[in-house]
Amino acid sequence: MALLRFAPSPTGQLHLGGLRMALYNHLYAKKVGGKWLMRVEDTDSTRFVPGSVEGIRKALDWAGLEYDYGPGKEGPHGPYFQSERLDLYRPYANKLLDSGHAYRCFCSPDKLSATRERLARTGSNSTYDKTCLHLTEEEVARKVRAGEKSVVRLNDSNLPTRPPATDLVFGHLKDAHASLATDPILLKTDLFPTYHLASVVDDHEMGITHVLRGEEWLLSYPLHLDLYAALKITPPKFAHIPILLNPDGSKMSKRKGDVQVVDYIRGGWEPQAVLNWLALAGWGAKHEIPSPDADISSTSAPTVRPQLIQKAPDSTTLMTLPEMINEFELSALTQRSSSLDPAKLEYLNKHHLMRIWSTPDGLETLAERAHDEIKAKFPTR
Ligand code: GLU
Repeated sequence: MALLRFAPSPTGQLHLGGLRMALYNHLYAKKVGGKWLMRVEDTDSTRFVPGSVEGIRKALDWAGLEYDYGPGKEGPHGPYFQSERLDLYRPYANKLLDSGHAYRCFCSPDKLSATRERLARTGSNSTYDKTCLHLTEEEVARKVRAGEKSVVRLNDSNLPTRPPATDLVFGHLKDAHASLATDPILLKTDLFPTYHLASVVDDHEMGITHVLRGEEWLLSYPLHLDLYAALKITPPKFAHIPILLNPDGSKMSKRKGDVQVVDYIRGGWEPQAVLNWLALAGWGAKHEIPSPDADISSTSAPTVRPQLIQKAPDSTTLMTLPEMINEFELSALTQRSSSLDPAKLEYLNKHHLMRIWSTPDGLETLAERAHDEIKAKFPTR
């Protein structure tokens, strides 16, 4: 059975982009009769914002996107906070150390930044000179015994061969390690994993079959596949979802309008209209190839041109959540970033309200909601 995950970091309120990611996970899981869980990626304590998890749960609740497992909904794949899963990561890091796919690095932060600067001055792409890769076993053992602090780095000069990277949205990818840090850190000195190790281990341990995540992770995707290969575990299927932009093509930010879900909750927008609006941003034509179940272990590039099976829906096509589930296909997601036009939300909102209005208890439902809103706004009158 398909199992997906929505993996927010507790760094503040849920953004529209995060809500769309949860929505696509929900749509795909329900479409194929699978489930999805919420995993809180809280291993970076410097970015933790108190109240985030509650805010994210409230936003999902409002939107009617109910995860099958996650915080407050225990199940077979927990715990759902990475900070409660720390014991899991170490054995995987040890396995990589034992096989020579990773090594301990004892360089101090000062030494590392001096090295980085020196390498940059020489025009090198590298961010680390691999000093610690050349330590002998005895030297490492002595430093460990002496209590010297170390991190675990991936040894990217000793990686296993593996099939090329394939993505359900972007197709076959060219690996590009050059843009990543040299020998990326997997385990930090405090024994907390970095995102790379934690997401690979958790997706494997939790039995995730499909990873739908933001395009910003596309760059590290080959690195993650290397980790799967080095650990001799099978990767899930991946779909990277292009980001959302403002109508003028700029990056969405607070300065440019409402980007947090809570703004739409406060604004009294119809949740299904907001979902409809988000779902259609980036929803293109349906193609037969690559299918959601394309074999990502295949090494050959597809030779047949994708067959168009349905044109892209108009970006103001009215859809309820069950209709979206019915219609959703990963192969229909576009590779380009999509812009969100507030005028379309107004249109969709109006039509969703009209749809509710025309149901048998619609008028009553809307009147009750209006009553609650008015009472909340004018509590003493
Ligand atoms: N915690 C990551 C983020 O919030 C999610 C990455 C993922 O879905 O794998 O960006």
